[in-house]
Amino acid sequence: TPVIALAGVTKSYPGGVTALRDVDLTVGHGELIAIVGPSGSGKSTMLNLIGTLDRPSSGTVHIDGHDIARLTDRRLSALRARRIGFVFQSFHLAPGRDAIANVSDGLLYTGVPKKDRDRIAETALVRVGLGDRLRHRPHQLSGGERQRVAVARAVAGDPAVLLADEPTGNLDSAAGAGVMDLLRELNAAGTTVLVITHDHEIAGSLPRQVPMRDGRVI
Ligand code: ADP
Ligand code: ADP
Repeated sequence: TPVIALAGVTKSYPGGVTALRDVDLTVGHGELIAIVGPSGSGKSTMLNLIGTLDRPSSGTVHIDGHDIARLTDRRLSALRARRIGFVFQSFHLAPGRDAIANVSDGLLYTGVPKKDRDRIAETALVRVGLGDRLRHRPHQLSGGERQRVAVARAVAGDPAVLLADEPTGNLDSAAGAGVMDLLRELNAAGTTVLVITHDHEIAGSLPRQVPMRDGRVI
């Protein structure tokens, strides 16, 4: 089974905006894909549906073989915590917490026992190249390093899917390239990765592009 399958998905928001229209998308295990399109084309809406943060107005969304409309909110939260990692443009790190604590906090709902969280967080930080930044707090880190902490947090629980929404949007080009290299490495090690971007150069550097416009995959 594919890790992600959207079939005939339409999403309308209260107020009447239809953000997605009849979208089909199938993503296999181990893919690395770019969802690319201009602002307002429906990329974030699609990521929210794939991330199980929202439900479609019509059509079906399957994640890991589960029809998300058929799961209770509780089971949907469990699926999200264990199987999906999120990375955002603005990092979303807790300001007063060091790198280990930020990553460890991300494991709270994944089923990893408390006694193991700091050790797993440390392993994830070493994996993203931050073994010498474990006790640094976000304000002591560069933008690229902050995003690496966020990536470590997203993958520490070994999710099936990593969803990255404009992960290089707040970084200079060198730091952005470093983060993209990191996402490629994680994908090569087996994680399915979806990157949202409006940057055609970044999209073109990935093996598969899903171009969007006006709520449709084109
Ligand atoms: P993108 O990520 O490509 O910029 P979005 O999915 O954010 O696109 O937005 C698609 C359309 O849906 C836009 O017209 C946007 O204004 C609208 N939209 C997005 N989120 C909401 C929301 N929560 N409520 C109402 N309209 C929304
Ligand atoms: P139960 O826990 O008894 O199965 P739920 O209230 O969790 O019942 O869900 C009943 C049905 O409503 C399910 O099919 C579920 O997919 C759907 N459902 C639950 N919450 C939402 C929601 N926020 N939006 C759309 N459908 C929902």
